[in-house]
Amino acid sequence: MRITTTVKVTPAVITDAAVTKLDMATMVVAAVPATERFIPHFYESNQQYLKVIPMTRNELIKLLSIPEDSSEAEAMRREANNLSHKRFHDTSLLLGQIGVERHACPAACRFCSFSEDVFKDTRIDLDIPSVVEMSRAFCASGEVKALFLMCMHDFDASSLCKLVEAVRGVIPEKTEIVFNIGDCPESWWREFKAAGVSGAYHVLRLREGTDSQLNPADRKATIAAIRKTGLKWYYCCEPVGPEHTNEELADAILLGNEFGCFQHAAMARVNFPGSPLAQFGEISKRRLAQIVAAVALASADNPELGSIAVHEPDMLGLLSGANSVYAECGFNPRDLETRTEEGRGGSVARMTAMLTEADWRP
Ligand code: SF4
Repeated sequence: MRITTTVKVTPAVITDAAVTKLDMATMVVAAVPATERFIPHFYESNQQYLKVIPMTRNELIKLLSIPEDSSEAEAMRREANNLSHKRFHDTSLLLGQIGVERHACPAACRFCSFSEDVFKDTRIDLDIPSVVEMSRAFCASGEVKALFLMCMHDFDASSLCKLVEAVRGVIPEKTEIVFNIGDCPESWWREFKAAGVSGAYHVLRLREGTDSQLNPADRKATIAAIRKTGLKWYYCCEPVGPEHTNEELADAILLGNEFGCFQHAAMARVNFPGSPLAQFGEISKRRLAQIVAAVALASADNPELGSIAVHEPDMLGLLSGANSVYAECGFNPRDLETRTEEGRGGSVARMTAMLTEADWRP
């Protein structure tokens, strides 16, 4: 739904955080209000942010081009944090993900340790009783708002429906079930919805089709099918490495809003030993937080948006516009440990503490 109502508006927080630039050539000092620079198109009325003019691609590219270690980037992150606190009324979204399979994946994403080009380990798939037990433990406190079940690109739809039924029986009623799976048609999503699935994480990844064997058109068709089925659509600008241009990032961010994502996010690529992309290195936490801030500022006109996540969970991201993080267990292609709860996967308790420290309420 687009908001078109004409209202009497007042500029949002214009006086906050002036950014001062010293032009050494002319010795002219120019003070420009931060909000005017970074969110020129949003206005506040009755505690709600209304879209007046959408952020253009060029404006977004400018935001992403700001040096990550500059005071401007710091002001941008602060404005994004303020905007998200107002938009989400200070509340967070704690999510949990279980990776249920670990084997060679035919999508062959060059950034993924499960790619069939690099994965030479023994295949392990968790059986239904194991996933059920993990789900019960993961969601027992009631803090996990949605439980994500993650598979490889190829999967068996009827087994997944059985898994959903079994998991549904042991987690709190209010905890939603979300799929993170490969491409499939709308008819399958209808079956998944009927089985008890509430949403889907699905992404057109950066350099999809070049750094993966997947067809970008298929990714977009699956996203359209998810939206058409009425499931909540979780999206992300990922997996970001230093080699990605600001133009590529801007296009990935805008796609999430164009299709009306329920969750937007940014995720940094995590290199693994032997990764074909390791030569490019990884982005810094500061750069990740800046991209999170750009996501928040560019998404203010997305009426579907219910949260913004930072992957992996990161305090600076939670102070830069993100209000959502994922606890993780089971298999994780970003982890050297077989079971991510023994490695880099954050526990529910740790994620709850992190959100609280960043001043986000449950
Ligand atoms: S990122 Fe997902 S689709 Fe790509 S290789 Fe890894 S498991 Fe497969």
